[in-house]
Amino acid sequence: MRLLNEIADLFFPKSCPICGNTIKTSRTVCFECESKIPPLNRENKIGGKWYFDELFYRAAYGSMMGELIRAYKYGPHPSIGSLLTDLFVEMFETFHPLPNSTITVVPITFRSYKEKGFDHMYLIGKELSKKVEIPFLKLLDISKQTRSQVGSSNVERMSLVDGKYSVRYKDLYRTCGNIILIDDVFTTGSTVNECSKILKEAGAKNVCVYTLAKAKMLK
Ligand SMILES: [Zn+2]
Repeated sequence: MRLLNEIADLFFPKSCPICGNTIKTSRTVCFECESKIPPLNRENKIGGKWYFDELFYRAAYGSMMGELIRAYKYGPHPSIGSLLTDLFVEMFETFHPLPNSTITVVPITFRSYKEKGFDHMYLIGKELSKKVEIPFLKLLDISKQTRSQVGSSNVERMSLVDGKYSVRYKDLYRTCGNIILIDDVFTTGSTVNECSKILKEAGAKNVCVYTLAKAKMLK
């Protein structure tokens, strides 16, 4: 399949979704853009007064990581998902998940799904599960369809996510006590914190969050 892709690329070169330069290989973004992704810093973790036990992030949102996420979600360029999945794999190699973990994702609204045409984190979660051989299960649903958080203040965000999510199963400690919750960007933390809270209420013993990027806190 890879050979076929490479032959196809020779005849139909693609353009990089970030910078527009021509790509003649099976890469999803060009070499120059990929090389601008910052190296993983071992200090990229957050603990403290949250419902999740620990949070790990790949890089600052203000870097190439933010550009990749925006191109992936809003391009939309689902093909970038493979590259982003590999960045999660790299994070798992540095910040080891607990044994017997289950991967799950923050769900998106139906409106967001219709706008993008795909569920961006679900796609990554499924591929990541295969690559790291950790089971994937969709544990969370949206119970309240709210407007987009983009452009909301911190206080508004906190009230927007309250009661927005629900857990599909009870007594998680019986089946999947250790949860790996993946998301694209950690901004105020309100979303992953609320998801972690209800996962714990449903019986999860440990919730570790992994995100691709961490934004500076909004003022
Ligand atoms: Zn490029």
